[in-house]
Amino acid sequence: MNKCKYTETCPVYSGELKSPNLTTAMFKRNYCETGTDSWGLCRRYQVAELGSEPADIMPHDPRDAEDIAKSLDV
Ligand code: SF4
Repeated sequence: MNKCKYTETCPVYSGELKSPNLTTAMFKRNYCETGTDSWGLCRRYQVAELGSEPADIMPHDPRDAEDIAKSLDV
């Protein structure tokens, strides 16, 4: 599998959720479609793997995934 397992439901992948300074194509190239090592770095992926819904979290969010998950679950 060459793509992240969340591609079908991820709003970043679909282009629904955008960043002001990075394109959807950049996210796909840097995270979603470049192998486990890449999507494993995606904050959305990490938060989802912790069992939380990443909502509007972007792949390059600088915060720690556990901190984000905790803030989402309160
Ligand atoms: S790598 Fe991140 S942005 Fe890309 S589909 Fe997976 S969860 Fe979404």
